[in-house]
Amino acid sequence: MNNKLYGNLIFELSHPGRKGYTLPKNMFGSYELPKKMQRSNDANLPECDEMTVIRHYTNHSANNFGVNNGFYPLGSCTMKYNPVINEETANMPAFANIHPMQPVEKCQGALEVYYNLQKSLCALTGLSEFTLNPFAGAHGELTGLMIIRAYHEKNGDTKRTKVIVPDSAHGTNPASAAVCGLDVLEVKSTENGFVDVEDLRALIEREGENVAAMMMTNPNTLGMFEQKIPEIEKLIHDCGGLMYYDGANLNPMLGACRPGDMGFDVMHINLHKTFSTPHGGGGPGSGPVGVCEKLVEFLPSPKVVKDGDKFSVECKDSDYAVGAFFGNFAVIIRAYTYILSLGKENIKMVGPLATLNANYIKEALKDVYELPIDGLCKHEFVFDGLKDKSTGVTTMDVAKRLLDYGYHAPTIYFPLLFHEAMMIEPTENESLETINGFIDVLRTIAEEAKNEPETVKSAPHHTPIGRVDDVLAAKQPILTYKQMKNEQQ
Ligand SMILES: *Cc1c(COP(=O)(O)O)cnc(C)c1O
Repeated sequence: MNNKLYGNLIFELSHPGRKGYTLPKNMFGSYELPKKMQRSNDANLPECDEMTVIRHYTNHSANNFGVNNGFYPLGSCTMKYNPVINEETANMPAFANIHPMQPVEKCQGALEVYYNLQKSLCALTGLSEFTLNPFAGAHGELTGLMIIRAYHEKNGDTKRTKVIVPDSAHGTNPASAAVCGLDVLEVKSTENGFVDVEDLRALIEREGENVAAMMMTNPNTLGMFEQKIPEIEKLIHDCGGLMYYDGANLNPMLGACRPGDMGFDVMHINLHKTFSTPHGGGGPGSGPVGVCEKLVEFLPSPKVVKDGDKFSVECKDSDYAVGAFFGNFAVIIRAYTYILSLGKENIKMVGPLATLNANYIKEALKDVYELPIDGLCKHEFVFDGLKDKSTGVTTMDVAKRLLDYGYHAPTIYFPLLFHEAMMIEPTENESLETINGFIDVLRTIAEEAKNEPETVKSAPHHTPIGRVDDVLAAKQPILTYKQMKNEQQ
């Protein structure tokens, strides 16, 4: 792309007096805004013709990488394909033009979708009820922890202000606990990447009476199914705590086993991961929270109830709602469409295929990439960089080089258990050809690391922007654009 011609910023393309709009005829007669409400200067808006605007944004959008461009094996994020039928249903005028304050009798269909998705999630997880209110996984964690807190407070158990979180957990777990005003107790992982039950036992002996809950991710962030859940669940419940299930990794378990049956009391689900709704760039997401029977009373409003074939909405005066109205409704429609289009039978195929793809890649590459935890994984796994450490080529370099070959990089430097972590999650959607292509490229990069390490270390070479200074970008981000007009003055 020629940046001179198209400009990085729309402001750079501005010419005084150019415009790409015409206002409709004034139908209301002339009306002057009161002086005190008028601007003293014109707003600094770019002045461009329509075609310039279209080219500018079209060319920018072509620089974007998404699941519709290519393979996106971003571990922990479940970047699965977002079927077009999801968009079609979400864009149906009856849904797209709805308003949250519309009378319930005028939006029975939308309420039915909301109600049915809640029920589907209950069936898939074995929990009693769900709220679809939160807007993200982390949002759901906060909601779940507030529910747990409210439960202990109602029981007069106000000492319980600590949450046990494994050292392999996603960063949002301790962050959500902190936002909820709870302290984090970290429990170690074993060498094989599972929760260390002996460490947990010791922790509970010291802190048991202060424990509000334990948060667990399963399969954990290393892609391994936690083997000792029954033992852990008993330890936590015996000391009076509750079990929280981080359901971001639910994908490999769909239709196979259910957190509710494992004794979990609260969980969140990421509709934008497991249920194929688009994500990235910070949204839009949805993080429904499910609870067991004894916590139902603490679920936030609104609650959609069914009476015969009529749907209505119940709202409490005050509760733990973190989002307005019915949550991210357009995402809810997409997720429900996904569940219906797969059906009870096919949804059971998601997990095995995702698991097969992950294991296939792992086995095909473990002779050149370091596999710290061997054995059967679920939907994802973690390499600890290249096996040959003598080349000086890091995980960062490999990730950047992958971009040159047209692949999105895996998640890197997470989980924190390994210095050169590279977390690969292919999802169930990818064809054998795509997966083999990815394997070939990772093997090629391993060869390059040996024979021409500088090529890998200075990658990417074929992207519009080369290697950026991550530290500078994080520490001194440039978040505003000084308009050229102002600079010239
Ligand atoms: C993605 C993820 C989260 C957070 O979900 P968001 O929707 O990004 O807020 C929490 N835990 C795990 C394990 C995750 O992968």
